[in-house]
Amino acid sequence: MCYNINVKMKNLKIFLLFFILFTVSNLSEADFPKYVFLFIGDGMSVSSEFAASSYLCGTGGNLIWDSFPCKAFAATWSLSCVNERNPDGYDAIKAGAVPYPYYFSESSEKYFETASATDSAAAATAIATGKKTVNGCISTNEKGSFFENIFDILNKQKIYNTCLITTTFFYDATPAAFAAHNISRQNRKQIAEEILSISKPEIIIARNEYDYLKDTAETNGYYVTNSKEIKNNMLFYNDSKKLFVILDNYNIPIPENEKNRPSFSYREDDLKFSEIALFAADKLLAKKKPFFAVIEMSDIDSANHDNDYHTMVSSVYELHNAVKSIIELINSGKTDMTPKNTLVLVTADHATGFLRFNEQPQKGRLPSKMIFAGKNMLLKFDRTVKYKSKNHTNELVGIYAFGTQSDLLKIYAGKNGIIDNSDIFKILKKTAVK
Ligand SMILES: [Zn+2]
Repeated sequence: MCYNINVKMKNLKIFLLFFILFTVSNLSEADFPKYVFLFIGDGMSVSSEFAASSYLCGTGGNLIWDSFPCKAFAATWSLSCVNERNPDGYDAIKAGAVPYPYYFSESSEKYFETASATDSAAAATAIATGKKTVNGCISTNEKGSFFENIFDILNKQKIYNTCLITTTFFYDATPAAFAAHNISRQNRKQIAEEILSISKPEIIIARNEYDYLKDTAETNGYYVTNSKEIKNNMLFYNDSKKLFVILDNYNIPIPENEKNRPSFSYREDDLKFSEIALFAADKLLAKKKPFFAVIEMSDIDSANHDNDYHTMVSSVYELHNAVKSIIELINSGKTDMTPKNTLVLVTADHATGFLRFNEQPQKGRLPSKMIFAGKNMLLKFDRTVKYKSKNHTNELVGIYAFGTQSDLLKIYAGKNGIIDNSDIFKILKKTAVK
């Protein structure tokens, strides 16, 4: 009798053990994405998204991420923005709980004219570490004290490969905050060396202006190549090596200006941003390991700084197309990636340019380019749009989530639909850190 009870108890324990193991393994699969893509449009104001969507379709809300199941707006302020007049960093009562063009008032316009804004270093630090800092700092506080960033955490746990892609230099502020620490974004060589010799993302695709860094990369186990080799399909490297692709043939395409016919012309030898994203996904998947990829389109910011509407529309389009290609790949069933094991986040680090519309932009149409004669004499101008600044603004930006764990965005955004940019780190940490 006793024996039978013991046997039954033993069987029950074994059953329970299997049940728990099965549940936990299923939970881990459901809870933790195997693959994470974080797309960042540098300086991509909600007006920039509206402009690109209107050029493509005649109305706002038609970019690929507008179809994502979870959407919110993110506050981007840094500690440099906080003062007596603006103690909370972002004042939703004065500035609005949704950004332009979905909200407009005299008081919100006045607020943005006077409120200080973050720079890319502090904004990327908030996203990469969950901590606010002052402008100029790369994952440190104003005294240079180290903040642990998401790549530090992932490197320690050794489950995910990391990947850093940008259309600018890999040691520029936005990518740097994910893979380096420095009191000043200007210390570019120090930042580059830390990325290549300490953080060591598995794949880097970016511009590089210091030739000697190729040797630094090779010493640290990288296969170094040029992006022309991707275009020519001439890349021969061993998948077990880290890969550093120096971006030399990437340029923003030129948009045509013809009513109802949006189109872009590319230089013959150039890569498209979508080709870069797909190439990286292919190489990362070949390594048969979970990965965490940060993919930045930096040219939206520079175009908005220049008040260059045409280049801004093209660069938002390039980001849209890259995200679209990755979503199509996830849904295609051709790879191991599925919406159930992959998380895609799209956001901006801050808004730039203070862009306003006097008329709804039409499909395929772009405002005339400003033509200056001499320093200040404006010969040609267009009244349909207006850039009110050449700098960053404290406006809210969009954030969009697709795939497993995208609901976390709703949780952190709360009732008013605004998430702080430092909470993006919490989403990344919750989803990618086991
Ligand atoms: Zn900028």
